Amino acid sequence: MLNKARAKLSNDLIYINDRGYHLPNKRAVVICYDGMDPSYLADATTRGLSPNLSAMAQQGLYASAHSAMPSFTNPNNVSIVCGAPPRVHGISGNYWYDRATGEEVMMTDAGPLGAPTILAGLSKAGVKVAAVTAKDKLRKALAVGLVGDGGRGIAFSAEKASACTLAEHGIAGEEAQAGEPVPDQYSPELSLFVLDAGLRLLSSGRAEVLYLSLSDFVQHAHAPGAPDSDAFIRAVDRRVGALLDAGAMVGIVADHGMTDLSLVDGSPNILYLGDRLDARYGAGQTRVICPITDPFVRHHGALGGFVRIHVLGDLDHAEVRDFLSRIPGVELALLREDMCRRFDQPMEREGDVAVIAGKGVALGTHDGAHALAELAGARLRSHGSLAERNVPFLVSHPLTAAYRRKAATEQLHNYDIFDFVLNGTRETEA
Ligand code: ZN
Ligand code: ZN
Repeated sequence: MLNKARAKLSNDLIYINDRGYHLPNKRAVVICYDGMDPSYLADATTRGLSPNLSAMAQQGLYASAHSAMPSFTNPNNVSIVCGAPPRVHGISGNYWYDRATGEEVMMTDAGPLGAPTILAGLSKAGVKVAAVTAKDKLRKALAVGLVGDGGRGIAFSAEKASACTLAEHGIAGEEAQAGEPVPDQYSPELSLFVLDAGLRLLSSGRAEVLYLSLSDFVQHAHAPGAPDSDAFIRAVDRRVGALLDAGAMVGIVADHGMTDLSLVDGSPNILYLGDRLDARYGAGQTRVICPITDPFVRHHGALGGFVRIHVLGDLDHAEVRDFLSRIPGVELALLREDMCRRFDQPMEREGDVAVIAGKGVALGTHDGAHALAELAGARLRSHGSLAERNVPFLVSHPLTAAYRRKAATEQLHNYDIFDFVLNGTRETEA
């Protein structure tokens, strides 16, 4: 009897990055609602803009989770699909300074992920898995082990849906696009396309487990309560309703929140740390890396609440940290080891000093080095600091007693969402 139970359990479980996941007994969808700061949801709930999300909170779970630090898109999407923080998978920003070569590189181009994903693990276990992202850059990181090299899953982006091939995406362009126009990269429709594509894959039986990752284009541009925010929240909510109607268990988290980083006159509130460091230590002694930098995204001018400082000259790192700590607008300046220990970062990609901004402050390199014209006069809204670490965590179905307890007593992370969706909603044999 015991043997039988054990055999069933091991057949039913996969282990990814030291955590066990049950193969789904019903269709499951995890949505990364990019940049969905809890303030949007609180406002939407009060005004009844998102009835399906409200119903999820009532029937299943609504909790406040932490994102991985820094509160940027790529580290968090990868953390969510790995079920583990950046220390485990190595993606701790979009952009990275390689000490060995002295070059700045896109982290997703720097080599394969340092850890397997839950998506690839489920796919290898015979589950039909699909990942759909807004941006193509992210799709490549999430597709590792899922498509290509014998992977049997599907992974494509809304941005490049029409160019899909069976070999690279596990789906042909025609099926991925399904006659829909490919949306502009800078539009709310890019995210809606992701959700619509997910629903099609689910309804047609092409996928049993879906990871759908949206874009934060709307939240970078519009505060809670703005007409464009309201319209987007309603449009997403309708699609979540359709996924629930299709019989899916749905989990929703955000990769990070979003904060207004502007002064009262509407100009961006930027602290140029490169200028401060040059004035203190001389030019060329330090290098400021903004890991939010993304050559494909224009709406934040590479400005966020977190930067890494590399000390190139013969300076005492602790002295540099102390200097940075004293600058108003800096919340925390930490030596490399402290940053990695406190915030689960990979050592090889951490700066000599990591700097986290205070709420409402953007950290930049040098005055004139950021493409502020790209903001086109709009207020700067962005993320990266601890102020954007709190994110919503929603599960559509009732949790088991053990997971209710976990949600009530532990600090959840957005990368716990697959655990809750796959393990937290069914009673397992004792
Ligand atoms: Zn994001
Ligand atoms: Zn963003």
